[in-house]
Amino acid sequence: MPFELPSLPYAFDALEPQIDAMTMEIHHDRHHKAYVDNANAALAGTAWEDSSVEEVLTNLDQIPDGIRMAVRNNAGGHWNHSLFWEVMGPDGGGDPGGALGAAIASTFGSVEDLKAKVSDAGIKRFGSGWTWLVVSGGALDVMSTPNQDTPLSEGTRPILGIDVWEHAYYLGYQNKRPAYLEAWWNVVNWDAVSARYEAAVS
Ligand code: MN
Repeated sequence: MPFELPSLPYAFDALEPQIDAMTMEIHHDRHHKAYVDNANAALAGTAWEDSSVEEVLTNLDQIPDGIRMAVRNNAGGHWNHSLFWEVMGPDGGGDPGGALGAAIASTFGSVEDLKAKVSDAGIKRFGSGWTWLVVSGGALDVMSTPNQDTPLSEGTRPILGIDVWEHAYYLGYQNKRPAYLEAWWNVVNWDAVSARYEAAVS
């Protein structure tokens, strides 16, 4: 089964004013679609063409040399963006509760401390990439990756990821990545992040 572009779970304009409708439409319909199409083209006719995107990304060392980079970039892009749409929402923001809220408090001190750490990792990522909250060995950790590399390939379970490629924010924020990151926390869907946390630690 080739990979498929997932539907955006809300309207293009649902995240305004933090993220404008045109950015969302181009990002989902063109950028994410291109990752899906390019990953499918790279994997077609190989032993991996029926594998899940998670199987592919956790076994990159076994992907044939000639397509490994295309698969890493494009299957990674597909997986990362699929997570990204889910961890945002029109009723976002606020603070997480439950087990995730408790784990954030004990690991980082407070939600504000966590946000600062995730945003800082995104600001410091030179060029294009992502900043992440992951579960690693049962514990929360913050990391960033270049390009479309995904922490999934490093054996962690990403539960929140913010795209810091310019295509994610340039129309609304131009070169001001810190302003985009600050605004992003107003669209975070903590319920989705909590569900991922609970699945990762169970
Ligand atoms: Mn993107």
